[in-house]
Amino acid sequence: MPIIALKPGREKSVRNRHPWLFSGAIQHIDRDAADGAIVEVHSAAGQWLARGYLNRRSQIQVRLLTWDADQAIDEAFWRARVQRALAGRAALAADPQTNAYRLIHAESDGLPGLVVDRYGDWLVMQCLTLGIDQLKPLLTRLLVELCQPAGIVERSDVEVRDKEGLRPVAGMLHGAAPAGPVEVLEQGHKFLVDLTGGQKTGFYLDQRANRRRVAAYCQNARVLNAFSYSGGFAVYALTAGAQQVVNLDSSLEALELAERNLALNGFDPDGQAEGLVGDVFQVLRDWRAASQRFDVIVLDPPKFAHSQQQVERAARAYKDINLLAMQLLPPGGVLATFSCSGLVSADLFQKIVFGASVDAHRDAQVIERLSQGPDHPVLLNFPEGEYLKGLVCRVW
Ligand code: SAH
Repeated sequence: MPIIALKPGREKSVRNRHPWLFSGAIQHIDRDAADGAIVEVHSAAGQWLARGYLNRRSQIQVRLLTWDADQAIDEAFWRARVQRALAGRAALAADPQTNAYRLIHAESDGLPGLVVDRYGDWLVMQCLTLGIDQLKPLLTRLLVELCQPAGIVERSDVEVRDKEGLRPVAGMLHGAAPAGPVEVLEQGHKFLVDLTGGQKTGFYLDQRANRRRVAAYCQNARVLNAFSYSGGFAVYALTAGAQQVVNLDSSLEALELAERNLALNGFDPDGQAEGLVGDVFQVLRDWRAASQRFDVIVLDPPKFAHSQQQVERAARAYKDINLLAMQLLPPGGVLATFSCSGLVSADLFQKIVFGASVDAHRDAQVIERLSQGPDHPVLLNFPEGEYLKGLVCRVW
């Protein structure tokens, strides 16, 4: 097997079982090592440390798979890792109220570069690295064997593949494409999910637990669901007795799906709910000028920081919307605010929301801290896997 030799003193993160090996730590790569193939990682002194797959095109040149010298990376290895991920979701799989959740959360499930979500009888797969891309036929076969899905949709149409020298791809890996949006159940709430054309893999599964928590503040409330996508938080809020919900999103398709989701759950999309196409930054400004008020505001924006250089600008954007939202709340109103930028830490995010409260001249109390759901686990040796954080604040 080809060997990757580390620079002297660079083996610490490998010994700590961090799955990423950056180019800066590498002294030498065997010339016959093919990108995508399995390689052996050795310390500068020639000691075997780990085994993973290589891609010279990426900053992360090796994604490590095992730290056990006897563990071969063969079909049995991949099957065991998939089975381990499935075992971690056994409680969800047994829950009759939920059939949409993340089955495989990449690095955090010991399967770097691979994301698989379950939507009822369907699976949606994202291959984010060259090593995983090359294993697509094997992984598809294993998923068919272990999950017996009606179909497997590939949604590798994501920009991060660029960093691996891969083009975006989407299509069917198994079975026929679903005829239209697929209906799923999330904690008893029904949702239509567009597996082939929707955002991400179709639905923001990482917010499942948070939708329920936020709904608990919505009884009799007038709720603004900003960055609503297909109305996840809105359906929960109305089920919990909200008086009215406004879904606000820049995507018309998302709002059309939100309207169908409201109807599917028995709500009148023209009565208790309103869908508004617009830019949250602009609309909240207009509403502030018009003294609009909401009792509960959900802010769940897309990822603002994609690189370290973008963190500062992202921080300003988070502060801006949080400040505006606080100004639309009456004393005692509730702000449920999220950030899914992994590069913005929970600590920084709290500081940003604090800054917004100071500028808004309001007292904001954190009443709940939220995070990604248990089907998006955080591996302790890979803290980068923690990306979603939320604060529920009561604003006086
Ligand atoms: N809360 C949603 C997920 C939100 S994802 C859920 O629970 O499913 C972020 C959403 O923000 C996307 O639907 C995207 O279309 C929308 N969006 C992005 N930028 C926006 C902007 N400036 N104004 C309004 N919506 C925006």
